[in-house]
Amino acid sequence: MMNIYDLAIIGSGPAGLNASIYASRYGIKNVVIGGVAGGLTTQTHEIGNWLGTEKIAGWEFAQKSAEHVKTYGTEMIPALVDEIKKNEDVFTLFLSDGKKIEAKTVILAMGTKHRHLGVPGEKELAGKGVSYCATCDGFFYKGKTVAVVGGNDSAAGAAVFLGDIAEKVYMIYRGDKLRCESFWGTAIAKNPKITMLYNTNIKEIKGVEKVESVILDNPFNGSDELKLNGIFAEIGSVPVIDLVEDLGIETDEEGYIKIDQSGRTSEKGIWAAGDITTGSDKFKQIITAASEGAIAAHSVQKFLKK
Ligand SMILES: Cc1cc2nc3c(=O)[nH]c(=O)nc-3n(C[C@H](O)[C@H](O)[C@H](O)COP(=O)(O)OP(=O)(O)OC[C@H]3O[C@@H](n4cnc5c(N)ncnc54)[C@H](O)[C@@H]3O)c2cc1C
Repeated sequence: MMNIYDLAIIGSGPAGLNASIYASRYGIKNVVIGGVAGGLTTQTHEIGNWLGTEKIAGWEFAQKSAEHVKTYGTEMIPALVDEIKKNEDVFTLFLSDGKKIEAKTVILAMGTKHRHLGVPGEKELAGKGVSYCATCDGFFYKGKTVAVVGGNDSAAGAAVFLGDIAEKVYMIYRGDKLRCESFWGTAIAKNPKITMLYNTNIKEIKGVEKVESVILDNPFNGSDELKLNGIFAEIGSVPVIDLVEDLGIETDEEGYIKIDQSGRTSEKGIWAAGDITTGSDKFKQIITAASEGAIAAHSVQKFLKK
């Protein structure tokens, strides 16, 4: 007979890992199943807004978070959940490594994935100059010319990070004013290597074996073609909900999982936490994801007690 967990947490980003810490401290027998331990924090260059930690590299934060979970003896399975089935009051999770897990409750914490630009050349040149992670790939652009597309915190952070590596950074943004924290705005303004191209979109990415240039809808220096070696798309994200589409869990019009104030979804026995939810006013941050994880674990504990 299969070992039944009280709680299966799907996703090993800040929401899932913090849910696990709280669950373990409540004595709930839990398991974390996830791709990269630390989730998106592994793609973050430097975290400077986590309470009590002035500055920490993303990879280090991720590693410490996973180690923290393991101090409670919690099992962390480095796999993806491919399917969830409910049979009476037990959930069966089918994992990408062929394993099956059974649990009485589930917390969904699968986060988000990067939004694509949707222009010709993007798909063909992905991994050949088109990237969605400056922290992961920035290193390859030492002394080169790159562009960051977007105007949010992630885009601004990526531009500043790349400013330390690349020779030249263009920040291409469709709006006329950045919508990032002023901290980043000041860092960009101070860096002579970064040039802003406002009110501009990329129409096409060109290159044979690798990215060579982009075609802009608003000419820069009299030309609509901008030569460069790499493009970092930082234009937001969409929730990872394919897994729950068959379960009929309620989402909003953008696909974010609707939760109540205790993290409960519309499906009995299933909670959700972090960037994947409509919670925290969709303010996608480590602290909000972690706190939604804690709240969900707290609610699961009350549910299991009953
Ligand atoms: C470049 C960048 C910089 C950032 N900088 C900061 C910052 O400085 N400060 C800050 O507060 N926030 C920052 N953020 C935002 C922050 O990283 C996220 O808000 C946070 O990581 C969300 O946590 P999460 O647990 O909800 O999701 P995620 O971190 O996205 O984790 C989701 C996890 O779920 C896993 N998963 C997905 N599908 C499945 C599946 N089917 N089965 C099992 N596992 C699955 C993934 O592998 C991943 O491990 C940044 C984000 C980016 C992209």
